Amino acid sequence: MSPTTPYENFRSQLRSAVAHVEVDDGLFDRLSHPERVLETNLTIERDDGTLDRFRAYRSQFNGDRGPYKGGIRYHPDVDRDEVIALSGWMTYKCAIVDIPFGGGKGGIELDPADYSTAERERLTRAYATELRPLVGEDRDVPAPDVNTGPREMNWFKDTYETLEGTTAPGVVTGKSIESGGSAGRVAATGRSTVLAAREAFSHLGRSLADATVAVQGYGNAGWIAARLLDERGATVVAVSDSDGAVVDRDGLDPIDVKRHKDETGSVCHYPGADTRTNDELLTLDVDLLIPAGLENAIDADLAGDVAADVISEAANGPITPAANDVLVENDVFVVPDILANAGGVVVSYYEWVQNRQRTSWSESRVNESLETHIVDAFDELTATMAEHELDDPRTAAYVVALERVATAAEQRGW
Ligand code: GLU
Repeated sequence: MSPTTPYENFRSQLRSAVAHVEVDDGLFDRLSHPERVLETNLTIERDDGTLDRFRAYRSQFNGDRGPYKGGIRYHPDVDRDEVIALSGWMTYKCAIVDIPFGGGKGGIELDPADYSTAERERLTRAYATELRPLVGEDRDVPAPDVNTGPREMNWFKDTYETLEGTTAPGVVTGKSIESGGSAGRVAATGRSTVLAAREAFSHLGRSLADATVAVQGYGNAGWIAARLLDERGATVVAVSDSDGAVVDRDGLDPIDVKRHKDETGSVCHYPGADTRTNDELLTLDVDLLIPAGLENAIDADLAGDVAADVISEAANGPITPAANDVLVENDVFVVPDILANAGGVVVSYYEWVQNRQRTSWSESRVNESLETHIVDAFDELTATMAEHELDDPRTAAYVVALERVATAAEQRGW
């Protein structure tokens, strides 16, 4: 069977909810498709004076609940299908955590490791220039995603403000603190993944503090999740990146593994740990599994071998729909991406509010508000599972989110 694409996966996830929500067929069709997708070619001058062209996208999936919101990804696998899927997931992510945004996503097809900092800056500014008519504090608000961070957001904001001849820090979120960023934003995705896992364990009558954990992917979300889990007393026995996994049943020190990765470029060959493949990590006998890499990491074949009791999805779309069915069948509690990793966009929302009010919140205020947001959304998810007699948390999440988006769309009218 050929693998399903991220957009096919998204549509199948949304379809699973439709039987439980009163929504007109035509409206559902509209809510399954992007409102518009920009596809563009960006040409920049390389440091050696040659020209290079890059394919870039921005998908505005749905704006019924507020400005389009979602990150910008720099990765060789970025394509139109993936960007649309990611923008669809953003729509329902913002809805389940009930923040007043719609969904969007952008991406540029490149491997940033092949380009200098100056080249990345020129590319980011070219992208911001191309997007300028589409974005704005009340229109479409980009943010970081895979291989982008505060630095790219600072460049984006500067280009937009310079071209517009104004100040508009809320045009992007995930900026550096000095450029209008929010305390707690960098750690927010990892933090919500851990909060969601804690709620899942307590729902099952268990404690996260006693859990063994494997984390697949050691980027911003994965590594912060590992650190926060370690702080809460859980034992992180395995972590990985695209080169492979390291395992130590006695527990790894997440901060020291991060240091090793920063120094050597990979978590692999961490002293004292055994080297494994990513697939071996995903099927390790642990209590909690955190997929924090890219889409489709767990397919139906692999899902049959997953030994974890709880999965909290830090990545977007790491489990295919067929794999999700297998996990539900095997009683694995999966906290879906649109809730588990929503901390990033929730704190983006706080950043946008702070920018609009020209004020700043303390880190403790951010973290306390985030905890309330995630716990409330988790409670709604479990209440919906009970009300609709659903055994799949993902379907319940889409029921809550689809109801909100469909109601807002209906109230707007045609
Ligand atoms: N890229 C993150 C996500 O997938 C954050 C998006 C945002 O903050 O707008 O949720």
